[in-house]
Amino acid sequence: MSKSKSAECVKVVVRCRPMNDAETKAKHERVVEMDVNKGVISVNNANHPGDPPKSFTFDSVYDWNSKQRDLYDETFHDLVESVLQGFNGTIFAYGQTGTGKTFTMQGIKEDPVMRGVIPNSFEQIFSHISRSQNQQYLVRASYLEIYQEDIRDLLSKDQSKRLELKERPDTGVYVKDLSSFVTKSVKEIEHVMHVGNQNRSVGATNMNEHSSRSHAIFIVTVECSELGADNENHIRVGKLNMVDLAGSERQAKTGATGERLKEATKINLSLSALGNVISALVDGKSTHIPYRDSKLTRLLQDSLGGNAKTVMVANIGPASYNCDETLTTLRYANRAK
Ligand code: ADP
Ligand code: MG
Repeated sequence: MSKSKSAECVKVVVRCRPMNDAETKAKHERVVEMDVNKGVISVNNANHPGDPPKSFTFDSVYDWNSKQRDLYDETFHDLVESVLQGFNGTIFAYGQTGTGKTFTMQGIKEDPVMRGVIPNSFEQIFSHISRSQNQQYLVRASYLEIYQEDIRDLLSKDQSKRLELKERPDTGVYVKDLSSFVTKSVKEIEHVMHVGNQNRSVGATNMNEHSSRSHAIFIVTVECSELGADNENHIRVGKLNMVDLAGSERQAKTGATGERLKEATKINLSLSALGNVISALVDGKSTHIPYRDSKLTRLLQDSLGGNAKTVMVANIGPASYNCDETLTTLRYANRAK
Protein backbone atom coordinates (compact mmCIF):
# COMPACT_ATOMS: atom_id res chain seq x y z
CA MET A 1 0.00 0.00 0.00
CA SER A 2 1.50 3.33 -0.96
CA LYS A 3 1.36 6.09 1.56
CA SER A 4 0.09 9.57 0.70
CA LYS A 5 2.66 12.36 0.44
CA SER A 6 1.82 13.83 3.80
CA ALA A 7 1.85 10.35 5.33
CA GLU A 8 5.43 9.93 4.18
CA CYS A 9 6.29 13.06 6.08
CA VAL A 10 4.93 11.74 9.37
CA LYS A 11 6.99 9.22 11.27
CA VAL A 12 5.97 7.62 14.55
CA VAL A 13 8.39 5.78 16.79
CA VAL A 14 7.93 4.25 20.21
CA ARG A 15 10.42 4.40 23.03
CA CYS A 16 10.17 2.43 26.26
CA ARG A 17 12.21 3.61 29.21
CA PRO A 18 14.00 1.20 31.57
CA MET A 19 12.47 0.15 34.87
CA ASN A 20 13.44 2.71 37.46
CA ASP A 21 14.97 1.85 40.82
CA ALA A 22 11.67 1.92 42.66
CA GLU A 23 10.08 -0.41 40.13
CA THR A 24 13.02 -2.79 40.21
CA LYS A 25 13.05 -2.78 43.99
CA ALA A 26 9.32 -3.47 44.16
CA LYS A 27 9.85 -6.28 41.61
CA HIS A 28 7.31 -4.95 39.16
CA GLU A 29 6.65 -7.21 36.25
CA ARG A 30 7.65 -5.99 32.78
CA VAL A 31 4.71 -6.27 30.41
CA VAL A 32 6.34 -4.79 27.29
CA GLU A 33 8.20 -6.88 24.71
CA MET A 34 9.97 -5.27 21.76
CA ASP A 35 11.43 -6.56 18.54
CA VAL A 36 13.61 -3.64 17.53
CA ASN A 37 14.56 -5.19 14.18
CA LYS A 38 10.97 -5.54 13.08
CA GLY A 39 9.55 -2.45 14.76
CA VAL A 40 7.09 -4.58 16.68
CA ILE A 41 5.99 -4.02 20.24
CA SER A 42 3.65 -6.21 22.26
CA VAL A 43 2.06 -5.63 25.60
CA ASN A 44 0.67 -8.17 27.99
CA ASN A 45 -2.47 -6.76 29.45
CA ALA A 46 -1.81 -7.22 33.16
CA ASN A 47 -5.45 -6.47 33.93
CA HIS A 48 -6.68 -9.23 31.63
CA PRO A 49 -4.07 -11.98 32.12
CA GLY A 50 -5.96 -14.44 29.89
CA ASP A 51 -5.85 -12.17 26.84
CA PRO A 52 -3.20 -12.67 24.16
CA PRO A 53 -0.57 -9.88 24.03
CA LYS A 54 -1.52 -6.83 21.97
CA SER A 55 0.93 -6.16 19.14
CA PHE A 56 1.65 -2.96 17.23
CA THR A 57 4.06 -2.15 14.41
CA PHE A 58 5.79 1.23 14.04
CA ASP A 59 8.42 2.87 11.83
CA SER A 60 10.88 2.07 14.60
CA VAL A 61 10.76 1.01 18.22
CA TYR A 62 13.40 1.75 20.84
CA ASP A 63 13.74 -0.36 23.94
CA TRP A 64 15.22 0.31 27.38
CA ASN A 65 18.75 -0.17 26.00
CA SER A 66 18.37 2.51 23.34
CA LYS A 67 20.95 5.28 23.21
CA GLN A 68 20.08 8.95 22.78
CA ARG A 69 22.58 9.23 19.93
CA ASP A 70 21.13 6.29 17.96
CA LEU A 71 17.63 7.66 18.31
CA TYR A 72 18.90 11.02 17.07
CA ASP A 73 20.85 9.69 14.11
CA GLU A 74 18.12 7.33 12.95
CA THR A 75 15.03 9.36 13.67
CA PHE A 76 15.67 13.10 13.95
CA HIS A 77 18.79 13.85 11.92
CA ASP A 78 17.02 13.96 8.53
CA LEU A 79 14.27 16.18 9.83
CA VAL A 80 16.80 18.72 11.13
CA GLU A 81 18.67 18.45 7.83
CA SER A 82 15.50 19.37 5.97
CA VAL A 83 15.06 22.40 8.24
CA LEU A 84 18.56 23.48 7.16
CA GLN A 85 17.32 23.17 3.57
CA GLY A 86 14.47 25.57 4.28
CA PHE A 87 11.58 23.26 5.22
CA ASN A 88 9.64 23.18 8.46
CA GLY A 89 9.74 20.29 10.87
CA THR A 90 8.17 19.29 14.15
CA ILE A 91 9.28 16.78 16.75
CA PHE A 92 6.85 15.71 19.47
CA ALA A 93 7.41 13.76 22.63
CA TYR A 94 4.12 12.20 23.66
CA GLY A 95 3.26 9.99 26.62
CA GLN A 96 2.26 9.56 30.22
CA THR A 97 4.13 11.64 32.79
CA GLY A 98 7.30 9.86 33.93
CA THR A 99 7.89 7.87 30.73
CA GLY A 100 10.77 9.95 29.35
CA LYS A 101 9.42 12.86 27.27
CA THR A 102 11.78 15.41 28.81
CA PHE A 103 14.58 12.85 28.83
CA THR A 104 14.05 12.38 25.09
CA MET A 105 13.78 16.10 24.29
CA GLN A 106 16.36 17.57 26.67
CA GLY A 107 18.14 14.64 28.22
CA ILE A 108 20.68 15.09 30.95
CA LYS A 109 22.76 18.16 30.29
CA GLU A 110 25.84 17.25 32.27
CA ASP A 111 26.40 13.98 30.42
CA PRO A 112 27.20 14.24 26.69
CA VAL A 113 25.96 10.71 26.05
CA MET A 114 22.62 11.50 27.69
CA ARG A 115 21.88 14.66 25.74
CA GLY A 116 18.46 14.72 24.12
CA VAL A 117 17.07 15.88 20.81
CA ILE A 118 17.15 19.62 21.50
CA PRO A 119 20.86 19.95 22.36
CA ASN A 120 21.76 17.44 19.62
CA SER A 121 19.91 19.54 17.08
CA PHE A 122 21.90 22.60 18.17
CA GLU A 123 25.12 20.69 17.44
CA GLN A 124 23.86 19.59 14.04
CA ILE A 125 22.70 23.07 13.05
CA PHE A 126 25.84 24.92 14.05
CA SER A 127 28.20 22.30 12.70
CA HIS A 128 26.37 22.49 9.35
CA ILE A 129 26.75 26.26 9.41
CA SER A 130 30.44 26.13 10.22
CA ARG A 131 31.02 23.83 7.24
CA SER A 132 29.02 25.94 4.79
CA GLN A 133 30.94 28.17 2.44
CA ASN A 134 28.69 30.22 0.22
CA GLN A 135 25.74 30.75 2.52
CA GLN A 136 24.98 33.21 5.27
CA TYR A 137 22.92 31.87 8.14
CA LEU A 138 20.80 33.49 10.77
CA VAL A 139 19.58 31.30 13.65
CA ARG A 140 16.86 32.52 15.98
CA ALA A 141 15.35 30.81 19.02
CA SER A 142 12.00 31.19 20.75
CA TYR A 143 10.57 29.21 23.61
CA LEU A 144 6.95 29.15 24.70
CA GLU A 145 4.54 27.19 26.78
CA ILE A 146 0.86 26.43 26.33
CA TYR A 147 -0.92 25.98 29.61
CA GLN A 148 -4.70 25.71 29.69
CA GLU A 149 -4.83 27.16 26.18
CA ASP A 150 -2.86 30.21 27.35
CA ILE A 151 0.42 30.99 25.60
CA ARG A 152 3.35 32.19 27.69
CA ASP A 153 6.68 33.43 26.37
CA LEU A 154 9.34 31.55 28.32
CA LEU A 155 11.99 34.05 27.24
CA SER A 156 10.16 37.20 28.23
CA LYS A 157 10.98 39.29 31.27
CA ASP A 158 7.31 39.50 32.08
CA GLN A 159 6.12 35.97 32.74
CA SER A 160 2.60 37.00 33.63
CA LYS A 161 1.80 38.14 30.09
CA ARG A 162 -0.40 35.97 27.88
CA LEU A 163 0.30 36.03 24.17
CA GLU A 164 -2.17 35.89 21.32
CA LEU A 165 -2.25 33.83 18.17
CA LYS A 166 -2.73 36.00 15.10
CA GLU A 167 -3.06 35.28 11.45
CA ARG A 168 -1.79 37.18 8.42
CA PRO A 169 -2.56 36.27 4.83
CA ASP A 170 1.12 36.41 3.81
CA THR A 171 2.87 34.77 6.74
CA GLY A 172 0.09 32.67 8.23
CA VAL A 173 -0.39 32.00 11.92
CA TYR A 174 2.07 33.55 14.36
CA VAL A 175 2.37 34.38 18.06
CA LYS A 176 2.14 38.11 18.52
CA ASP A 177 5.02 39.64 20.52
CA LEU A 178 6.84 36.34 20.99
CA SER A 179 10.48 37.11 21.70
CA SER A 180 13.16 35.59 19.55
CA PHE A 181 16.90 35.69 20.07
CA VAL A 182 19.56 35.57 17.42
CA THR A 183 22.12 32.96 18.44
CA LYS A 184 25.54 32.52 16.91
CA SER A 185 26.78 29.36 18.59
CA VAL A 186 25.73 26.20 20.39
CA LYS A 187 26.66 27.90 23.63
CA GLU A 188 24.41 30.87 22.98
CA ILE A 189 21.38 28.83 22.00
CA GLU A 190 21.91 26.51 24.98
CA HIS A 191 21.86 29.57 27.17
CA VAL A 192 18.51 30.59 25.67
CA MET A 193 17.12 27.12 26.40
CA HIS A 194 18.42 27.29 29.94
CA VAL A 195 16.78 30.67 30.61
CA GLY A 196 13.47 29.34 29.26
CA ASN A 197 13.68 26.21 31.39
CA GLN A 198 14.23 28.34 34.46
CA ASN A 199 11.33 30.62 33.63
CA ARG A 200 9.17 27.58 33.10
CA SER A 201 9.44 26.65 36.73
CA VAL A 202 8.82 30.21 37.95
CA GLY A 203 5.42 30.42 39.49
CA ALA A 204 4.95 26.68 39.46
CA THR A 205 4.47 25.44 42.98
CA ASN A 206 5.14 21.92 41.80
CA MET A 207 7.34 21.76 38.72
CA ASN A 208 6.49 18.16 37.94
CA GLU A 209 2.82 18.79 38.10
CA HIS A 210 3.13 21.95 36.04
CA SER A 211 5.23 20.37 33.29
CA SER A 212 2.89 17.44 33.12
CA ARG A 213 0.00 19.78 32.36
CA SER A 214 1.59 22.12 29.84
CA HIS A 215 3.16 21.86 26.39
CA ALA A 216 6.64 23.37 25.99
CA ILE A 217 7.71 24.32 22.48
CA PHE A 218 11.27 25.27 21.58
CA ILE A 219 11.39 26.90 18.15
CA VAL A 220 14.54 27.33 16.07
CA THR A 221 14.27 29.37 12.88
CA VAL A 222 17.10 28.97 10.39
CA GLU A 223 17.40 31.58 7.68
CA CYS A 224 19.83 30.96 4.87
CA SER A 225 20.80 33.43 2.24
CA GLU A 226 22.78 32.47 -0.81
CA LEU A 227 23.89 34.27 -3.92
CA GLY A 228 22.23 32.59 -6.89
CA ALA A 229 23.47 32.17 -10.46
CA ASP A 230 21.31 35.18 -11.30
CA ASN A 231 23.48 37.24 -8.96
CA GLU A 232 20.52 37.78 -6.65
CA ASN A 233 20.39 36.80 -3.00
CA HIS A 234 18.01 33.91 -2.36
CA ILE A 235 16.64 33.42 1.10
CA ARG A 236 15.09 30.26 2.48
CA VAL A 237 13.72 29.85 5.94
CA GLY A 238 13.19 26.62 7.84
CA LYS A 239 11.57 26.27 11.21
CA LEU A 240 12.19 23.51 13.73
CA ASN A 241 9.61 23.01 16.48
CA MET A 242 10.52 20.73 19.36
CA VAL A 243 7.57 19.94 21.57
CA ASP A 244 7.53 18.37 25.02
CA LEU A 245 3.81 17.65 25.28
CA ALA A 246 1.68 17.63 28.41
CA GLY A 247 1.31 14.21 30.03
CA SER A 248 -1.19 12.05 28.20
CA GLU A 249 -2.50 10.30 31.31
CA ARG A 250 -6.21 10.60 31.77
CA GLN A 251 -6.34 13.64 33.98
CA ALA A 252 -10.01 13.63 34.79
CA LYS A 253 -9.85 10.66 37.11
CA THR A 254 -12.69 10.51 39.57
CA GLY A 255 -12.80 13.35 42.02
CA ALA A 256 -11.41 16.10 39.77
CA THR A 257 -13.58 19.16 40.13
CA GLY A 258 -13.49 22.89 39.46
CA GLU A 259 -10.15 24.22 38.20
CA ARG A 260 -8.65 20.74 38.06
CA LEU A 261 -11.40 19.38 35.88
CA LYS A 262 -11.30 22.43 33.61
CA GLU A 263 -7.55 22.02 33.23
CA ALA A 264 -7.84 18.30 32.57
CA THR A 265 -10.44 18.84 29.88
CA LYS A 266 -8.22 21.33 28.07
CA ILE A 267 -5.19 19.03 28.08
CA ASN A 268 -7.19 16.14 26.76
CA LEU A 269 -8.71 18.43 24.16
CA SER A 270 -5.41 19.64 22.75
CA LEU A 271 -3.85 16.18 22.68
CA SER A 272 -6.86 14.76 20.91
CA ALA A 273 -6.88 17.72 18.50
CA LEU A 274 -3.25 16.90 17.71
CA GLY A 275 -4.12 13.24 17.19
CA ASN A 276 -6.93 14.24 14.83
CA VAL A 277 -4.69 16.54 12.79
CA ILE A 278 -1.97 13.94 12.42
CA SER A 279 -4.31 11.13 11.55
CA ALA A 280 -6.05 13.34 8.96
CA LEU A 281 -2.65 14.13 7.43
CA VAL A 282 -1.63 10.49 7.39
CA ASP A 283 -4.95 9.41 5.98
CA GLY A 284 -4.24 11.70 3.04
CA LYS A 285 -7.84 11.61 1.87
CA SER A 286 -9.17 14.17 4.31
CA THR A 287 -10.00 17.44 2.66
CA HIS A 288 -10.28 19.15 6.02
CA ILE A 289 -7.41 19.15 8.50
CA PRO A 290 -8.80 20.35 11.85
CA TYR A 291 -5.92 22.67 12.80
CA ARG A 292 -8.23 25.20 14.38
CA ASP A 293 -9.38 22.92 17.20
CA SER A 294 -6.57 23.86 19.61
CA LYS A 295 -3.87 26.49 20.10
CA LEU A 296 -1.20 23.82 19.74
CA THR A 297 -2.34 22.68 16.29
CA ARG A 298 -3.08 26.23 15.08
CA LEU A 299 0.35 27.37 16.16
CA LEU A 300 2.03 24.46 14.37
CA GLN A 301 -0.20 24.61 11.31
CA ASP A 302 2.61 25.61 8.90
CA SER A 303 4.86 22.90 10.32
CA LEU A 304 2.49 19.94 10.10
CA GLY A 305 1.61 18.58 6.67
CA GLY A 306 2.53 19.99 3.29
CA ASN A 307 6.31 19.89 2.85
CA ALA A 308 6.92 19.76 6.59
CA LYS A 309 8.30 16.68 8.28
CA THR A 310 6.91 15.42 11.57
CA VAL A 311 8.29 12.87 14.00
CA MET A 312 6.37 11.75 17.04
CA VAL A 313 8.08 9.77 19.76
CA ALA A 314 5.54 7.92 21.87
CA ASN A 315 7.10 7.27 25.27
CA ILE A 316 5.95 4.41 27.46
CA GLY A 317 6.92 2.72 30.72
CA PRO A 318 7.61 -1.02 30.98
CA ALA A 319 5.87 -1.95 34.24
CA SER A 320 2.59 -3.78 34.67
CA TYR A 321 0.92 -1.06 36.73
CA ASN A 322 1.23 1.34 33.77
CA CYS A 323 -0.22 -1.10 31.32
CA ASP A 324 -3.51 0.73 30.72
CA GLU A 325 -1.77 4.03 29.97
CA THR A 326 0.81 2.20 27.85
CA LEU A 327 -1.93 0.67 25.72
CA THR A 328 -3.70 4.02 25.42
CA THR A 329 -0.45 5.66 24.24
CA LEU A 330 0.19 2.92 21.70
CA ARG A 331 -3.33 3.23 20.32
CA TYR A 332 -2.90 6.98 20.00
CA ALA A 333 0.46 6.56 18.29
CA ASN A 334 -0.95 3.86 16.04
CA ARG A 335 -3.64 6.21 14.79
CA ALA A 336 -0.98 8.77 13.94
CA LYS A 337 1.13 6.59 11.69
P1 ADP B 1 8.34 12.86 31.47
O1 ADP B 1 8.97 14.10 30.94
O2 ADP B 1 7.66 12.05 30.41
O3 ADP B 1 7.45 13.11 32.64
P2 ADP B 1 11.03 12.23 32.32
O4 ADP B 1 11.75 12.51 31.06
O5 ADP B 1 11.10 13.26 33.37
O6 ADP B 1 9.49 11.89 32.01
O7 ADP B 1 11.54 10.82 32.83
C1 ADP B 1 11.26 10.33 34.13
C2 ADP B 1 12.53 9.73 34.73
O8 ADP B 1 12.97 8.59 33.99
C3 ADP B 1 13.68 10.69 34.72
O9 ADP B 1 14.42 10.53 35.89
C4 ADP B 1 14.50 10.27 33.51
O10 ADP B 1 15.86 10.62 33.62
C5 ADP B 1 14.28 8.76 33.49
N1 ADP B 1 14.31 8.24 32.11
C6 ADP B 1 13.36 8.42 31.18
N2 ADP B 1 13.66 7.78 30.04
C7 ADP B 1 14.85 7.18 30.23
C8 ADP B 1 15.71 6.35 29.42
N3 ADP B 1 15.39 6.02 28.15
N4 ADP B 1 16.86 5.91 29.98
C9 ADP B 1 17.18 6.23 31.24
N5 ADP B 1 16.43 7.01 32.06
C10 ADP B 1 15.27 7.47 31.58
MG1 MG C 1 8.65 16.07 31.54
